[in-house]
Amino acid sequence: MKQITIISGKGGTGKTTITACLAQLANNYVVADCDVDAADLHLLLNPQILTKHDFYSGKGYSINQETCTKCGKCQEICRYEAISNEFIIDPISCDGCGACFHVCPTKAVSETDNLAGEYYISTTKNNRAMVHANLHIAEDNSGKLVAQVRKEAKELATQINAEYILIDGPPGIGCPVNAAIVGINQAIIVTEPTLSGIHDLKRIIEVTKHFNVPAKVIINKSDINAQNCETIQDICVSENTECIAELPYDKIIIEALIEGKTIIETQPNHKISVLLQEIWENIK
Ligand code: SF4
Ligand code: SF4
Repeated sequence: MKQITIISGKGGTGKTTITACLAQLANNYVVADCDVDAADLHLLLNPQILTKHDFYSGKGYSINQETCTKCGKCQEICRYEAISNEFIIDPISCDGCGACFHVCPTKAVSETDNLAGEYYISTTKNNRAMVHANLHIAEDNSGKLVAQVRKEAKELATQINAEYILIDGPPGIGCPVNAAIVGINQAIIVTEPTLSGIHDLKRIIEVTKHFNVPAKVIINKSDINAQNCETIQDICVSENTECIAELPYDKIIIEALIEGKTIIETQPNHKISVLLQEIWENIK
């Protein structure tokens, strides 16, 4: 089983759209949406949820008003100003450090496992297994949820003897990206010929090298700036990272997205669909 993660140094390059296209070209795979902070692959793959699982991470704290003596010790120690003058903890401001729990003389502060999100085992509209997730607002630990999604995807892939796990990775270079690429067989970096695209491409290539993950590059919307596109090609050469395709901008991709579809579904013979098929052949 080979694990392939589609990543991008920055958001908005077309990473998820390309992942959805590959998911319609490949066979015998499990697809995992590891962009858990802003999951949206489901909008294109339209999965039917089979099972839903709670994801707990960290601790949640609350104050029992009946046993609280209003001594103020918890408020004094809280570095996040998360405890109001009425001694109510604001879950958004609370960092989960547990200091209030430990200083409270009357044991009025209770500690519970924090429900940080959910993950789902589903079947996509083209009848493929999919694992995806939803991290609740203001929750951290998205790296842990990414790891959980990957674990579930791997178990599923083993059960059905899948050849590939296609992973839609998070944007950026932080903890969730690290969790989405560690131990994989191939990273596909989707970039675009803009200054921020170039800046973030260099950083994400560095991350893949740090984790010893082989990487290939796709330049999306390649025709929006010829000079920046050339710069990206030069970076790929100097970083010894193969650029496998340049995908031009075309509004038919947007028109397909508006319908909740990919270009593979709406225009399978279009030159961009043909390029995407070539990309999948290359990755395979
Ligand atoms: S430390 Fe305990 S008793 Fe004192 S104000 Fe805070 S919750 Fe109430
Ligand atoms: S757990 Fe830490 S951050 Fe949260 S309210 Fe208590 S002291 Fe403040």
